[in-house]
Amino acid sequence: FNPNVQVRPNVKDIEPYKPGLSNEQLRKELGDRPLVKLNSNENTLGPSPMALRAMEHELPKLHLYPDGGSDLVKAAIAEHHDVQPDQVFVGNGSDDIIKLLSETFLDAGDEIVTPFPTFSQYTFGAQVMKAKVNLAPLRADFTYDIEALLAAVTERTKLLYLCTPNNPTGTVLKQVEFDELMERLPEHVFVIVDMAYDNYATDPERFQFNAQALKRPNVCFLHTFSKLYGLAGLRVGYAIGNPEVFAYVHRVREPFNVNRIAQVGAIAALSDFEHVKRSQALALASRRQYQALREMGMYVVPSEANFVLVQVGDGMRVFEALRKQAILVRAGFAGLESYVRISFGTESENEVCIAALRKVV
Ligand code: PMP
Repeated sequence: FNPNVQVRPNVKDIEPYKPGLSNEQLRKELGDRPLVKLNSNENTLGPSPMALRAMEHELPKLHLYPDGGSDLVKAAIAEHHDVQPDQVFVGNGSDDIIKLLSETFLDAGDEIVTPFPTFSQYTFGAQVMKAKVNLAPLRADFTYDIEALLAAVTERTKLLYLCTPNNPTGTVLKQVEFDELMERLPEHVFVIVDMAYDNYATDPERFQFNAQALKRPNVCFLHTFSKLYGLAGLRVGYAIGNPEVFAYVHRVREPFNVNRIAQVGAIAALSDFEHVKRSQALALASRRQYQALREMGMYVVPSEANFVLVQVGDGMRVFEALRKQAILVRAGFAGLESYVRISFGTESENEVCIAALRKVV
C-alpha cells in the first residue's frame, strides 16, 4: 500500500497547518523562563470564570453524549443577538464552520474569493474541495477594496469571505462598503463575514451586525468563543444567517460536533459580563500602549482587534530575536514579510514586548 499514490492529489498539495512551536520544543528552548505568548490572539486574562464553574459542574456527565442539536447553546446565542434559534449554527470552533461551509458549497473547479492578506482557513477549506481561490488584495493601507473584491468574482464563485476586523491586519470593513458590495454582487455568491474580533472594535463606521444585513439570504456572520470569552481551547464558534442554508450544513456536520463541556461553557460565558468588560478594557488599553512603537518610528497598522501588525524590517529575524527572549509573536504571513503580528497581553507582557522590540528593530 502506497499512500503517496492513493491519497487525493490535491490533499498532497495542501500545506500542513503549522500551529507554531510544540510545547515540548518550547520547554526545551525556554527551560523555566516564563513565556510571553503573544502569537495566537488569545485572551491573556484566561477563560471566563463563570464558564469554568459551569464546566466543572458538567464533568460527571461526560459518559453521556452531548445534545447533537446544541439546542440550549443555540437558544442562548439567539437571545444574545436577538435572532431566532434556527438562524444560528454552532460548530467546533469557527474553523469547523469554515470547513463545513466549504464542504456544503464547493465542488472541484468552483471558486471562492478572499481578501489578501487574511485568515488562512478560508483558502484551506477551498483547497480540500479542489476549489480555486481568487485573492482580492486589500489597499496599501490594508483597508478593503470593494472594486478588487468584485473584480475577483466570476460565474463560478460560490463563496466570498470578508473578515472584519481582518486577521492579521486589524483593519475593518465599513458599513457603506458592505452595503455597496452587497448591492453590486451577483446573487449567486454566498458571503461569509467573519467577525471573530468584532467585539474588540469601536470604529462607529465599521460594518456591524444588524437585522437589515441578516435579511439578505446570501450572507452569514461568523463569531467565536475563542477570543473575547477566552475559550480558544474549548472550540466553540457559531454562524448567524439563513436557516435554509444551515439546514444543508447540518447534513454535512458530525452528529456531535460541539462537545458537552463546550456547550455549557459557551452558555455561561455569554452572561459573564464582568469578564467581557475586563477583556475589552484590556484590549483598548493595549492598543494605546502599542502607540509607543509609533513614537519610536515604526509603522503600526491601526487595529480594531486584540492584536497589532507592526512593520519591523525582516519579520522572521525579529520573530527569532524575540523568541530567544521567550516572547512569541507571529511572522511569516504571505505578502507581509516585513511585519510581525503581536497579540495583546497584560500590561506588563506588552511592556516586555515593546522593550524587546525597541532593542531588536
Ligand atoms: N476567524 C478568524 C479571523 C480567526 O483569526 C480565527 C482564530 N485564529 C478563527 C476564525 C478561528 O476561530 P475558532 O477558534 O473559533 O476556530
